[in-house]
Amino acid sequence: MAPLTNGKVPKSTKMHSKVVIIGSGPAGHTAAVYLARANLNPVLFEGFMANGFAAGGQLTTTTDVENYPGFPSGILGPELMDKFREQSLRFGTTIITETVSKIDLSARPFRYWRESEENDVPETADTIIIATGASAKRLGLKGEVTYWQSGISACAVCDGAVPIFRNQPLAVIGGGDSAAEEATYLTKYGSHVYVLVRRSELRASKIMAKRLMNNPKITILWNTVATECQGDGDLLNNLRIKDVNTGEERDLPVRGLFYAIGHEPATALVRSQLQTDPDGYIITVPGTTQTSVKGVFAAGDVQDKRYRQAITSAGSGCMAALEAERLIAEEEEGVDED
Ligand code: FAD
Repeated sequence: MAPLTNGKVPKSTKMHSKVVIIGSGPAGHTAAVYLARANLNPVLFEGFMANGFAAGGQLTTTTDVENYPGFPSGILGPELMDKFREQSLRFGTTIITETVSKIDLSARPFRYWRESEENDVPETADTIIIATGASAKRLGLKGEVTYWQSGISACAVCDGAVPIFRNQPLAVIGGGDSAAEEATYLTKYGSHVYVLVRRSELRASKIMAKRLMNNPKITILWNTVATECQGDGDLLNNLRIKDVNTGEERDLPVRGLFYAIGHEPATALVRSQLQTDPDGYIITVPGTTQTSVKGVFAAGDVQDKRYRQAITSAGSGCMAALEAERLIAEEEEGVDED
């Protein structure tokens, strides 16, 4: 399918923008709404299956979103993202259905290339907001694709409260702080929570490990890995698990499986040009979305390994927009911030 635009900018036109947003999740679209309302004519690249996600980002892969304020009865993820997009367009954002595949942040204006035009003259932008998101790491277990979002999740805070998990046995895979946090959180809903730890010790901090081990609703299965997700074709109801020392396999009947094995921020585009942490997340000045390069801002999951929620992404998208707007205004007025 040919890449689409909303009609304002023909693909072949070499474009200069005051602000370009890369990414189309809650962070990117919130930034777009603010910038468009500030008459800065933002251009938003929504991606074309960028990082494995349809335009709209991670929420396009889920059903009910019940914790996004303003929707008391909940809303389907794809529908919520359609609304974000509609709001960006309403205020005049130019949305381009292409992936930005190359970027040069070494000098301003910044240069970037669309995937379809990598060998062409680049387009340019005075400021850039990186809102390319992240994706949960998966294990690639047998049955994982069948039961993904039908019993398997990578976010306890997002999905733990859904009816299929209430008073049911659940499992968490992982041995770090997130696994400890997710398992503890899930005890509010599940009848019991099993934590599968590949090794004979936890990577979690002492305090988190203690909390985990002292919780009567949690059992840690040491030296244990999952080998297969099984169910009735619609919903997960069993895990095949294996003791890595003895090789012995057995069933663990659970209705929910939560991966807590980390996320992969979508930073391949900028990793060598912006300061990132050891896990690849973009580092921002605390309390702001400013990256290590002046004029480049980062919002959403790409810079947030802690909260990873739609609302926090939207919040940081708003911050990025206001910070970009301020920088543009100061530069236009000839004020030097430094
Ligand atoms: P993302 O949503 O990750 O979107 C980034 C977008 O940018 C993607 O569409 C990607 O294709 C695009 N992109 C990437 N690279 C490029 C590029 N180079 N050029 C152009 N485009 C690019 N949160 C909640 O608050 N409540 C929930 O109920 C909830 N449920 C969830 C269920 C699932 C299954 C998942 C996976 C996540 C869920 N989350 C939930 C988390 C929430 O989806 C994320 O926190 C949020 O979407 C992050 O938003 P973001 O704007 O940072 O980016």
